[in-house]
Amino acid sequence: MADNNECDVAIIGAGPVGLFAVFQFGMLGMKAHVVDTLAMVGGQCTALYPEKPIYDIPGYPRITAADLVEKLAEQAAAVGPVYHLGQQVVALSRIEASGRWRLETSAGTVINARIVVIAAGAGAFGPNRPPLPGIEDYEGRCVHYMVLRRQDFAGRRVVVAGGGDSAVDWAISLAEVADKVSIVHRRAKFRAAPESVNRLHALADEGRIDLIVPYQLAALEGDGETLEAVVVADLDGKTRRLEADALLPFYGLAMSLGPIAEWGLDIEQHHITVDRQTCLTSLDGVFAIGDIAAYPGKLKLILTGFAEAATAAHAAWPMIFEGKQLHFEYSTTKGLPGR
Ligand SMILES: Cc1cc2nc3c(=O)[nH]c(=O)nc-3n(C[C@H](O)[C@H](O)[C@H](O)COP(=O)(O)OP(=O)(O)OC[C@H]3O[C@@H](n4cnc5c(N)ncnc54)[C@H](O)[C@@H]3O)c2cc1C
Repeated sequence: MADNNECDVAIIGAGPVGLFAVFQFGMLGMKAHVVDTLAMVGGQCTALYPEKPIYDIPGYPRITAADLVEKLAEQAAAVGPVYHLGQQVVALSRIEASGRWRLETSAGTVINARIVVIAAGAGAFGPNRPPLPGIEDYEGRCVHYMVLRRQDFAGRRVVVAGGGDSAVDWAISLAEVADKVSIVHRRAKFRAAPESVNRLHALADEGRIDLIVPYQLAALEGDGETLEAVVVADLDGKTRRLEADALLPFYGLAMSLGPIAEWGLDIEQHHITVDRQTCLTSLDGVFAIGDIAAYPGKLKLILTGFAEAATAAHAAWPMIFEGKQLHFEYSTTKGLPGR
C-alpha cells in the first residue's frame, strides 16, 4: 500500500471543474491531492472532444477543449497540487477519531483529508464496446474509442462506427487526413446535427467517405495486434469486408457512478444532491461540484462548475481553519499564494 498522503482537501476527478477547484482551494490556502481514473487530466474535455472548440468559456471567444485543460492545469500548478492519475477512488470512509476522510484508490494509494470534493463528472466513464470477439487485443493499438490527435490517423484506412455526433464529426474531420474513411451505421439515417449530416453526404458524394449503411460491425480480422479488416453484416447477415488499419467505434459512453454510489451520499438519478449555497453533500465535509452535483435549476456547463468550485472552497475554509475569520479578498488584491 502506498504512503499515507495527508492533505487539506482530496479532489476526486481532474476534469475541468476538479482542476479549477485545485486553484480555488489553493487560493484560500488549502492544499489538494487529486485523483483521476484517467491517465491524464481534463476529464470529458480531454477524453471526448480535445480538438473541438468551446465557445462559452468566459473571456475566451473560442478555445479548444485541450487548450482549456492546458490552461487550467497551468493555473492549478501555481498552488502545487499532487496528482494521483490512472487510479480510481474505490473507497471513502470516515476516520471516527479525527473526523477526517480516508480515500483508497484502485492502485492502493491512501489519502487522508479533512475535506473531500467530488468532481467526478458523469462518474467513472468508459466506452460502450461493440461485442466483437478479441476486440480487447486491438484496443489502444488499432481500436480507439476516442481521438486524441487526428494526425495519428494520417494516411491510414479508418472505419468509424456509429450514427451520432461523434461518429459523424470524426468521419468528416478524419476525411481530411486519412487515406480512406468508411462510416458504418445500422440505419440509413444518421442522428447527428443536420449540418454535419449534410456535410457527411456531400463528402460521400465526392467519394471521400464511404457510407456503409445499414450495416453493423460483425468481426475483426488481423493477427491480434495489427488490424487488417473490419467485417460488417447487413440485417440479413450478408457480410462485407472493409480493409482497415483502425476502427473507431463511437457508441456513446457507459456512465456509472461506480463506487461513489456506495458511499452513503444522497443520490438522485445518478447525481449527488447538494446544497446549492455551499455545494455540501449529505456527508459532513464532503462537497460535490461540476456535472455530478445536482440541485434545482442546475445547468451542466463548465462555467457552472467553476462557480461551484469557488462556492465549495469558501464553504470549506472554516472547516479547515477552525475559529479563524476569512477576510474576502479579490485575486487582484492578494495575488497568488507564496508570491
Ligand atoms: C462533446 C461534448 C461537448 C461539450 N461542449 C461543451 C461546451 O461547449 N461548453 C460547456 O460548458 N460544456 C460542454 N460539455 C460538457 C462539459 O464537458 C462538462 O460539463 C464538463 O466536462 C464537466 O466537468 P467535470 O469536471 O464536472 O467532469 P468531467 O469532465 O466528467 O471529469 C470528471 C473526472 O472524474 C473522474 N472520475 C470519476 N469517478 C472517479 C473516481 N471514482 N475516481 C477517480 N476519478 C473519477 C473521471 O475519470 C473524469 O476524468 C461538452 C461535453 C461533451 C461530451
